[in-house]
Parts: sequence; structure tokens; C-alpha cells
Amino acid sequence: ATAGPPPQPVSATALPYQDPSLPVADRVADLLSRMTVDDKIGQMAQIEKDALVPQSDLATYRIGSVLSGGDSTVSPNNAQTWADTYDSLQRTALGSPLGIPVIYGIDAVHGHNAVRGATLFPHNIGLGATRDPALVQRVGRAVAREVAGTGIDWSFAPCLCVARNDRWGRTYESFGETPEVPGAMTTFVTGLQGETLGSGPASVLATAKHYLGDGGTTGGVDQGDTQVSEAELRAVHLPPFKEAVRRGVGSVMLSYSSWNGVKSHAHKYLVTDVLKGELGFTGFVVSDWAAVDQLDGQSGFTAAEITTAVNAGVDMVMVPHDYKKFLGLLRGEVSAGRIPMARVDDANRRILTKKFQLGLFERPYTDRSLTPGVGSAEHRALAREAVRASQVLLKNDGGVLPLAKNARLFVAGKSADDIGNQSGGWTVGWQGRSGPVTEGTTILQGIRAAVTDPSRVTYDRYGNGIDGGYTAAVAVVGETPYAEMRGDRPGGMGLDQEDLQTLARLEASGVPVVVVLVSGRPLDIAGRLPAWKALLAAWLPGTEGDGVSDVLFGDHAPTGKLPMTWMSSASQQPINQGDGKTPLFPYGHGLTYGTGTGPDPDPEPTPAPKACTAQFRVTSAWSGGYQAEVSVKNTGTAPLTGWSVAWDLGGATVSSLWNGSLTVSQGRATVRNTAHNGALSPGATTSFGFTANGTAGTPAPQCAGS
Ligand code: BGC
Repeated sequence: ATAGPPPQPVSATALPYQDPSLPVADRVADLLSRMTVDDKIGQMAQIEKDALVPQSDLATYRIGSVLSGGDSTVSPNNAQTWADTYDSLQRTALGSPLGIPVIYGIDAVHGHNAVRGATLFPHNIGLGATRDPALVQRVGRAVAREVAGTGIDWSFAPCLCVARNDRWGRTYESFGETPEVPGAMTTFVTGLQGETLGSGPASVLATAKHYLGDGGTTGGVDQGDTQVSEAELRAVHLPPFKEAVRRGVGSVMLSYSSWNGVKSHAHKYLVTDVLKGELGFTGFVVSDWAAVDQLDGQSGFTAAEITTAVNAGVDMVMVPHDYKKFLGLLRGEVSAGRIPMARVDDANRRILTKKFQLGLFERPYTDRSLTPGVGSAEHRALAREAVRASQVLLKNDGGVLPLAKNARLFVAGKSADDIGNQSGGWTVGWQGRSGPVTEGTTILQGIRAAVTDPSRVTYDRYGNGIDGGYTAAVAVVGETPYAEMRGDRPGGMGLDQEDLQTLARLEASGVPVVVVLVSGRPLDIAGRLPAWKALLAAWLPGTEGDGVSDVLFGDHAPTGKLPMTWMSSASQQPINQGDGKTPLFPYGHGLTYGTGTGPDPDPEPTPAPKACTAQFRVTSAWSGGYQAEVSVKNTGTAPLTGWSVAWDLGGATVSSLWNGSLTVSQGRATVRNTAHNGALSPGATTSFGFTANGTAGTPAPQCAGS
């Protein structure tokens, strides 16, 4: 909704806020001076499109924003109808006395995924595996063009969660387990918005979400509690948000989760002091879906919840349904002075600034020249490129891959020919689903298109009918779609019964088995791995399955690197903790062709000098024992990936340790980072804690980087 013809000359009677030649700050100040309290509280509300009945309520209640949640759709579900729906809502909004345009948000989290026929890119975990911020920026640009092609102004992306536990159902929305990879992939923000908001065609407002610590909850429980020290919260979860703010992200969405028992939506320190103060975030903060009305643990708004959230720093509340109740309560709290007018003005200033910067006042309607770009060949080619770059080759015994194009192949598995499975959650519906949910190329179709003679490729979903005469069997197995808490896996993390049976049929044939794993995260496959010749992690590639076959047949060698440590057993959670075993594949692992399991042909550049310091602090003590925390700071100029800390135990013994793995020898304890937080960025601090039996003394921990 931001491109199109240049603004018309302003008539002599136009008000200052309607004059595009004035600076945005002046336009905001002028508009604010003309707004009533009701105008202002309306701007702070975001309503689900389907809940707006009648649509004229948009103008009546001066609603500032509309969204489509995961299950919201239009009928028929195509780009044209979405654009028509957008324009109709916008026309209604502009009918309010001050004619303030509505800003419409949607979860375009791996492409414009609500729209059937849109181009769907790999989910973030696959983009993290590419380690290619420039590619991710191009993906963001293409997503912006498709979103703007339906008029929509704002995407609730990227998710900058640092996933620390594979059990979490949102692991695939994470670019990776270290702060560095999600931080680097904030190029997605500049992809969506353009270098500056509103510049060029198709500038779509981005959202850094979910602030803060959503990926660190105990047990990997969605919407759970992240129980970490402030030092760890800042070292692990905050850096990607800092990067996003540096890149000018226009909005931040808060997390449903809590930090040490306090919900983010009620956390004034995190939202106002750290995000808006320390990080200097000048955009607006939006709540998550119905997150404010569940602050007290029950659904349904109370005045106290609204006051807590707004005073903590929430600027816009994703209501999303019961807007009359919300507006009435907010109005009451403002009139009673429990929410200061200055806070309401600040929220409005932040929201209106983004609306002006986006150009919504000048170009409120869909730029129809962009609509045919939804699902275009150009965007699909880019998605295919991203799929290729996201493939991580984990095992390749005897160089079974790449496959020869004239080989006799047997393809099996529930995700070989299923566009829904390969796209995952957030695909034409919140949870996604198996089957032909949208348009694209399945992995099987990609394989058939790549070979010299498609009749030499046999497909049976269940692996029935395989015999010893095939060159290779390709099994495409893994997870079926899920989103958010419905994807949490508190129990086993292995393959399902169907996959295990399919694999057993293939394995029994004696034909070399190549496994393509379609999943939102590492799975517990260590027990089965010896039976497979090759393993390719395809993540959730999206609609362009031919990106997978490009790698299988060696048209493009695999270059992806693991964005998450790969567990050797399900009990090894959170990552690198739990049962203390060595992971199956370390973070960063990824093979390529030509060298078997040999060295990476594209090594990381030579690292700069490494330096760190460590400090020891007793946090509580009792007769015969104590608890202590050691914090490690990167004092060098390069990310520190190989630190270890050692200290003299002075006769004490360590009885438990959290956030690390420990070796004790000759009275010295050593903790290594491979079992802790991954890389530490320059200046960052991280910490681990332990319980010891004995007396503390004053250990001087020594830190070594490599
Ligand atoms: C999710 C958000 C999403 C919102 C709107 C929530 O359930 O946590 O990530 O942006 O819904 O659909």
C-alpha cells in the first residue's frame, strides 16, 4: 500500500498533517493536536479483520490497526481478493473525521503464507542454515513485494527468537541457537522495509518478535518461563533485537513468555527501560494475540491488565476480538488518570510516525502493479535458491550423494509428494496441514524433473514394492505441520510409526538409503542413522521442492551449516545440556560433495585474536556448601566460539552445574563453551552456575579463548 503515483499537490486548504512536504514529526504533532481522546485510544487497538462487525466500526471507533491472524482468510483465497478486502477496509477507515489510514498487519513469516499461491520460502531455521544474510535480505524484499501486492502494510516478522530447546514448537521460527545467527539475519528487516521505511515500492513494516526470551523457556514450553540471570538474558536473547533496532525495525512484538516469573507484557523494565531506553527503539510495541487479556491467567480483559501493559510500554494492543470492551476499559483508565495522557500521546506518536513514514496518508490503497507478483516465477526462483542454500548434508557414506541422473531410484516417505508437509506450520492456516494446501513443486516432482528418464523413478509413499534392483532409495520423512504450542514435544523426539515402517522396508531391501529429513528441528535419529548411507536436513523448505533435488543430484553442492546442535538423544535438552552426552552433530556441522566426510571447502575466515575474562561470585552459601555463578566476558574484538573457564576447587566438589558441561581433574574444574551458549559476541557476557560441596574460598577463574 506504499507505492504508486506521486502524491497529488496539496490544496491550499489542506491541514498541515496532510501536507507531505512537511517533516513527519511536524505532521504527527499537528495531527495529535486535533485528536480527541477517543481518536487516540482507537489508534492503540488492533482488531482481527473477521471480528470487525459491522465493518463501519473501523471508523466509528477510530480503530488504528487491523490484522489477520493465522486462520484469517478471504474467499476465494487469492491475491486479488486480499487486495480488494484491504482497499475496502481502508476506504472505511478513511471515512473517520480525521481520515487516519488503518495499518494492516499479517504473519508473512515465510512468504505471504496466508495467500494461496504465494511463494513460500524456507522457514527461518533453514534460512539460518544458509548463513547468508544477503540472501535473506533478498528473501525479505520478495516477501515485501508479495505482501504489498495485496495492500497489506506490515508483517509480523522476523521472529528473532534464539531457540535453546528443540522441544519448543516454535524452534523452526528461529534462525538458530546462538545470538549471532539471528542477529545477522536481521537483514530480513531491511528486506521487508527497504533501507528506509517508505522508500521505494513495497516497503512493508517489519516486526522483531517475540521480545524477550521466548526461545529460552524451561522445558522448551511455548509461552513458558525463561529462568535465566539477567547476564544470560542479555548475552543470549537480547543481541538480535539490538541488531534489529540498529537496522531501524519499525515495530517489536512482545512475547507471551515470562522472565523469571514476570510476563513480558507486564515488564516495564524490559520494555520501557531496556528496549525503548537503552536500545533507543523509536518504533512502536505491539502486544501478542490476546496476550494482554490473559495477563491475570484468565481470558477476558480487565482494566488492571490494560493499565499494567500500557504503562509497561505496550503501544498497540492486539485485542483481537472484543474491541468494544477493550476500548471502554482503556477509556476509563485514561479518564481516571491511571494511564497518564503522556503515555497515550507517546504511543500515538510512535504509531502515527510509522503510518506517515510508510506513506499511508498519501498512498492508502493497494499498488495493483504489484499484485501479479504474488507467486511469480521470479520469486519462486529465489525461493529455490534459498532452499538449495539451506540444505545441510549431515552424512554421506561412500559418496552415495550426489545421485546420478540416470540412476534407478525408489522414492518413498510421507513428505516426498506433499506440499503441505514441506511447507510446515503458518501455511494457508495457522497450523498448516498435510496435502495440496497451496501451489508449488513437491520434492518428488523436483526429482522427476531432474532425472534424464522419469520412468526410472518409482514412488510409493510407504516403501512397498522395493527390490534390490534400485541404485538408491530416497526416503523423505520427518514431521507433519504444527505451529506454536501444538508443536511442543515434551516426550520422545523420534520419527513417527509410519516413517519407521517405511524406512524399515527400504532398509530391508539392501538398497543404499538416502534420508531427506523434512522437519522443523533436529530429531532423535541417532539409533537409526547407521542404517542410512546419507542424511540431508531439508528443514521446512516451502513451496519450491526442486531446491532439494538440485542438491540431491549435485547441480548445487550443499553448503548449509547446522543452525542448531543436533541431539544424540531426546534427553539432551535444552541444547547441549541434559544427559551430558556428546551431540550427534555439532552446531555448524555441514558436509559438501567431493570430499566425502572431509573438510569444508569453504572454511570460515581466520578468526581475529580472542580474549576473555571471568568472574566468580557466591550467590548463596550454607554450612558445607555453596552456590556460585561465574560470568564470562568477551573482551576481544571477534566472536568467541572456543572459550573455556577453569578454576581451583580448593578441595570442594561440584555437585551440580547448570548451563554448561564440566570436567574435574586434579582439583580443577573446567567448563567449556561447547556445552554452553555457543559464540559470545565482542563485549557480551554470559554466565553459568553451580553447586559445590565444601568451602568457597576465593577461586580466581581463568578464561581462555580460542
Ligand atoms: C503468535 C504471533 C503472531 C500472532 C498473530 C500469535 O499467536 O504468537 O507470533 O504474530 O499470533 O497472528
